[in-house]
Amino acid sequence: MRPIIESDLRGSFVNCSKGETKRLGVPRDLDEQPWDDLDFLGWRDPGAPERGYLVTERDDGTLAGIALRAAPGTARGFTSRSMCSLCLTTHTSGGVALMTARRTGEAGRLGNTVGQYLCADLACSLYIRGKKQTVVGADFDETLSMDERAARTRTNLAAFIDKVLE
Ligand SMILES: [Zn+2]
Repeated sequence: MRPIIESDLRGSFVNCSKGETKRLGVPRDLDEQPWDDLDFLGWRDPGAPERGYLVTERDDGTLAGIALRAAPGTARGFTSRSMCSLCLTTHTSGGVALMTARRTGEAGRLGNTVGQYLCADLACSLYIRGKKQTVVGADFDETLSMDERAARTRTNLAAFIDKVLE
C-alpha cells in the first residue's frame, strides 16, 4: 500500500469518535513502515494494549481505519492452535486474538460490534510474505502463492470492513 502520513491515518477511522481518533496511539516510525509489503497497516496501541487498529486502502483509493478491541480471556491452553481469519496464518495460543470492531451508524450506537480472530500483532501482511515467523513455523500445507495469499487477505479484510460499515 502507499505510505500514509499521521494526519491521513487519524482521519481515516470510520468507527470511532473524533476525540478517540485524536487520542489513539499511532506508530511513531510511520515513515519506516515496510509499506511495499503491507496489505494494511495494523498495530496495537502502545498506551492501551487491549486496543488495536488497522488502516487499509479500499478499492476506490480511500483509506479506511478500523479501531479494534481485544476481547479479554480469549487465550486458551498453550498447546491449542488458532487461525487468523484474515490471513489464515496458524498460531499457538496468544498469537491470535478475538478482536471486535464497533459498527458505524445506528448499529454502532446500539452497541453492535463485529468480531474476528486476528493475528494478535496485526502483522498479517508480514506473515504472508515470510517476513515474520510464527512459533508454529511455516504452513507446509499452503498451496497458494504469496500473491494469492495476499489477495485472499485483502478480500477477507474488505469483507470485514463491509460488515463494520453496514
Ligand atoms: Zn493474520
